[in-house]
Amino acid sequence: MQTLVDWGRIDTVLLDMDGTLLDLYFDNHFWLQHLPGVFGRERGLAPEAAHAELVARFGREQGTLNWYCVDFWSQELGLDIPLLKKDIAHLIAPRPGAFEFLAAIRDSGREAWLVTNAHHHSLSLKLAHTPLTDLCDRILCSHDFREPKESAAFWPALRASEPFDPARALFVDDSESVLRAAHDYGIGQLLTIGQPDSRKPTRDGLHFPVLHHFNDLLPIPPRHVTA
Ligand SMILES: [Mg+2]
Repeated sequence: MQTLVDWGRIDTVLLDMDGTLLDLYFDNHFWLQHLPGVFGRERGLAPEAAHAELVARFGREQGTLNWYCVDFWSQELGLDIPLLKKDIAHLIAPRPGAFEFLAAIRDSGREAWLVTNAHHHSLSLKLAHTPLTDLCDRILCSHDFREPKESAAFWPALRASEPFDPARALFVDDSESVLRAAHDYGIGQLLTIGQPDSRKPTRDGLHFPVLHHFNDLLPIPPRHVTA
């Protein structure tokens, strides 16, 4: 009997994509290895110098929509980011049990919504290389609401567009600042991810309850609809 989620009080499951449903290794590898390599070759910089330069630039935009915006970085760095991402698309992979978990949510009579800060270009690449479109009832991108999920303004904007009962929602995301905003808005149950990147150690010292494997949330009892 799993105790992480009280399924009797859940109608809608909101799920982050990168680092939650999908292995963050793709994104970390792209931004911290593949892109610095290309950027360094273009600018004649050593790999370490290119890495340091990019990390400093990323830091200045953290927590904003620019940080997630492929168009912004393409322009800022003078590189075709969507094209470069395709070079390593074979690294796009689910976190263990993610797709089976999505199927189980829907089998239980609940809805699974993907709610991501990923830019449309990144999102379409991930959707092209995974079955997420078929497994999710809605696919929602924060760029359409002009606010990242970390922002207090995101959550009322999402609900105005896609009505749901926040008190009867479960939200799983690997970002604690995102979870904090969701908590403050009144999302009923929240979980973070122990190991968003399969090549990095499991994180500790997390504030929200930690999900280690999607199987830990199974089985999902059928949803009882009250008249
Ligand atoms: Mg994430």
